[in-house]
Amino acid sequence: MDKYKVLKEYFGYDGFRSGQEELIEGILKGQDVLGIMPTGAGKSICYQVPALLMPGITIVISPLISLMKDQVRALNEVGVHAAYINSSLTEAQIGKAMQLARRGQYKIIYVAPERLLSSLFQDFLNHADISMVTVDEAHCISQWGQDFRPSYLNIVRMIAGMRSRPVVSAFTATATEEVENDILCVLGLQNPRVLVTGFDRENLYFEVRSSRQKDGEILKYIKEHGKESGIVYCATRKNVETVCMMLLREGIPAVRYHAGLSPEERKENQDLFIFDERPVMVATNAFGMGIDKSNVRYVIHYNMPQSMENYYQEAGRAGRDGERAECILFYSPQDVRINQFLLEEKEFREEMTAEEMDAVRERDAQRLKWMTFYGTTKDCLRGYILNYFGEKTKRRCENCSNCLNEYTEEDVTEICRDVLNCIREAGRGYGAGTIAAALHGSKNERIRSYGLDRLGTFGCRAETPEYRLKEIIGELTAREILRSSDDKYAVLSLTKEAQRILDGEAAVVMKFSKAAEKKVPVPKKKQISGDLDNRGWQLFEKLRELRMQIARTEKVPPYIVFTDKTLVDMCLKKPKDRKEMLSVSGVGAAKYEKYGERFLRCINGKAVPQSNTY
Ligand code: ADP
Repeated sequence: MDKYKVLKEYFGYDGFRSGQEELIEGILKGQDVLGIMPTGAGKSICYQVPALLMPGITIVISPLISLMKDQVRALNEVGVHAAYINSSLTEAQIGKAMQLARRGQYKIIYVAPERLLSSLFQDFLNHADISMVTVDEAHCISQWGQDFRPSYLNIVRMIAGMRSRPVVSAFTATATEEVENDILCVLGLQNPRVLVTGFDRENLYFEVRSSRQKDGEILKYIKEHGKESGIVYCATRKNVETVCMMLLREGIPAVRYHAGLSPEERKENQDLFIFDERPVMVATNAFGMGIDKSNVRYVIHYNMPQSMENYYQEAGRAGRDGERAECILFYSPQDVRINQFLLEEKEFREEMTAEEMDAVRERDAQRLKWMTFYGTTKDCLRGYILNYFGEKTKRRCENCSNCLNEYTEEDVTEICRDVLNCIREAGRGYGAGTIAAALHGSKNERIRSYGLDRLGTFGCRAETPEYRLKEIIGELTAREILRSSDDKYAVLSLTKEAQRILDGEAAVVMKFSKAAEKKVPVPKKKQISGDLDNRGWQLFEKLRELRMQIARTEKVPPYIVFTDKTLVDMCLKKPKDRKEMLSVSGVGAAKYEKYGERFLRCINGKAVPQSNTY
């Protein structure tokens, strides 16, 4: 068999994705490799295909138990013998697995890094024929990253102690130079082929919303997305609780996940989500590492994360199957302040020097700033993300809310001057809402009690709606012309830059969304998957139902049976027999034998002719 045949027969795919083939070729020639690819790019195929073509066993080191389980399940589904060894097994179970491994039962064995130096495992290594060691989530070896796992250093000792050195392949989605260098040096990769693929995830649609009715909008969105699976990320446990309650009250099958729950409940809720029994997960960022669920169709951020790294990692959990998915961030200036506060309060490890702490604080503040700009930019969101990660891009992607929205550009320098004068005149600090109301000339109780109706600037912008004034104040804060205090009152003050505007040395030009003013409807989003028509979606629903039935009987997550992308491809191709079914992306020989006919019957609504030809 060659690599194409393995890809088709086992995994059911017709071709390799960008980067996969090059890495596989390197490995098969006996070269060490390092693959740096974003989540969902298909790193597993890069080591699983060569593992099946090499004579001996492949050991895969992975830090996450749930991920290992999932991978092993998926491999067994496609007819590859694989096992895992980690703390979720008893010693007796581990002993049994090692025994089978020594007899050559498994082609691929996943191991937790803590297990590598155990005498049982060492004994196995001394007697087995190991062709490759694969290090998944290789950034865990870097002390630079947030995910450093000291037990990853065991890998180096393990390899050094082996009878003959196998090929070493390493994979990660973390692309910073420090991490890359650490992986290369610490792991001691020899003359490695290093491949960094682009970070773009074409099937993801990005959107930023800055609505005050986010609860209502989220509810509407989730209802419109019916049975689809999605994640709502919140910044705090409290928000998780309230959002989850809100969804449950409306009859949406949601579950919650955060560090305040018992390990049992976390596990149970995670499983309910993974098995599609409760398709909506409301969680803090404690949730997601090691979740391989490929049919997550949307990731909503109820609150803004602290950095673009966090955002892209969390949002990237959508659409791993390559099918269209949406990433929506709800931006609010209040979240910026909460994050600033949390970063100020951050605790450091004791051994850090004051200088190191300052450096980290500075870096955190910088990261938050970039994240905030993402929330306020009117430029292409995908472009913004990719530029942040150091990639050059087209000016517009036509698949994010900014590219799809129409904007008008307006010189708002005069209004800004009034805003700045009003803040200065008001003296004691006030927040954006109060300043906007004063400028607009609202005679509400608050304005009167503060005496703001006696200001010279009171009502000088009566013709500008308050929401527009607040939008302008938000933009001035984002551009650091205004400063907003970190406490909960968020009091505004002027920065040095403000003086330049007051002195007429700088102008302010802003973009305003036409859709926000209801002047134009938001254009339809681009479809990535071949467009299914109404009947196509009806069939998709039927196939999804069948997939759920099978998943329940087999006790595997539905996406392990077939991914959403495979179901969509079935709806497009409407295969009539075995041969046609095998041409569907994601249907390999083993899966066909197990499920092929049931799906054929469901698609054709009748008995299906048997054929033995490929
Ligand atoms: P990563 O580990 O990089 O996050 P995965 O290995 O989980 O990504 O792959 C993501 C999805 O893409 C999986 O559903 C996988 O089966 C699918 N995939 C990988 N390679 C291909 C390919 N060549 N053709 C089609 N689908 C692929």
